Amino acid sequence: MSTHRPRPAGGRFRPTRRVLVTGGAGFIGSHYVRSLLGARAGRGAEEPRSAGDTAVTVLDKLTYAGVLANLDAVRGHPGFTFVRGDVCDESLVGGLVAAHDEVVHFAAESHVDRSIEAAGDFVRTNVLGTQVLLEAAVRHRTELFVQISTDEVYGSVAHGSWREDAPLAPNSPYAASKAAADLLALAHHRTHGLDVRITRCSNNYGPGHFPEKLIPRFVTRLLDGLTVPLYGDGEHVRDWLHVEDHVRGIELVRRRGRAGEVYHIGGGTELSNRELTGRLLALVGADWDRVERVEDRKGHDRRYSLDWAKARRELGYRPRRDFAEGLAETVAWYREHRSWWEPLVGAAATR
Ligand code: NAD
Repeated sequence: MSTHRPRPAGGRFRPTRRVLVTGGAGFIGSHYVRSLLGARAGRGAEEPRSAGDTAVTVLDKLTYAGVLANLDAVRGHPGFTFVRGDVCDESLVGGLVAAHDEVVHFAAESHVDRSIEAAGDFVRTNVLGTQVLLEAAVRHRTELFVQISTDEVYGSVAHGSWREDAPLAPNSPYAASKAAADLLALAHHRTHGLDVRITRCSNNYGPGHFPEKLIPRFVTRLLDGLTVPLYGDGEHVRDWLHVEDHVRGIELVRRRGRAGEVYHIGGGTELSNRELTGRLLALVGADWDRVERVEDRKGHDRRYSLDWAKARRELGYRPRRDFAEGLAETVAWYREHRSWWEPLVGAAATR
């Protein structure tokens, strides 16, 4: 474990809330932490919307997917602390949870393709790690536990959109591990009265996304003059959510949500992978001859779609980012931040 602990500015920083954020060096977690601490970071930065009295500790193992540079913008903030460690480490987690009022839990193995190759790390981190955090939260009477989950727990939906009360029917080992974590979280609410709130979101996109996921993988390969691999017939449909909208949705749930409830955070832009590929090609000025059709992913869910009326009704949530604009900004970010993604491309390929 290593700890980065900035000295309080003139000893004047007196936090009234202490939030432990797991997986805060990853894609979504780092956007969330920057937002919570009111930092602006690069193009398309999120609006600052937190009270200046929140202290944030990031607990992150820095796996291949964790990038410390994602937290550069908050490194000097007096309320920021970074702890390198594993969510499965009971004694470390116990000490940290005891010292915080709330937990926002992002840490996960998050790439479906890797879970198809080998699921052990997914079960360990996503299921056991969540259990370790939940038990510590019960033991130390944590006021609030926000579990960050995914639309993938419901499996594929041919028509219409899943509501929060839809049955869980995950198809990939990744989705199954997230569903298990969600059920454990809800069980700790029902059994122990822990204030657990779960967010399930659509596919995120935006700056700083690790280059193994579809959009950043395609963009970085196209920028390098390479081909991109499109699974199967390309007709798999995903709903796209800008990471800033997701972060805003999580914050609404943290501040105004109800204990024991699940909230959907949707993006409002459903596209087939073929349509999305066409948009990315247009944005980098490339043709369809750069697209290679490859064998479909095993068990590939055809369509995900969330009904987010509950979050709109109860919390006033709606996505604000226009997809065409957000995607163009994202492509521009990758053009301008080669030094961020070039070292990660090798890590994505070899692990
Ligand atoms: P990511 O892979 O970019 O980041 C995961 C972070 O967790 C990394 O910093 C990694 O180092 C850390 N981590 C992994 N194992 C750990 C462990 N054992 N202990 C401590 N830290 C560990 O993931 P992301 O895309 O930012 O996703 C964050 C959360 O949101 C995940 O729970 C994921 O399931 C969920 N989610 C993501 C999406 C999406 O589109 N990216 C969609 C729905 C839900």
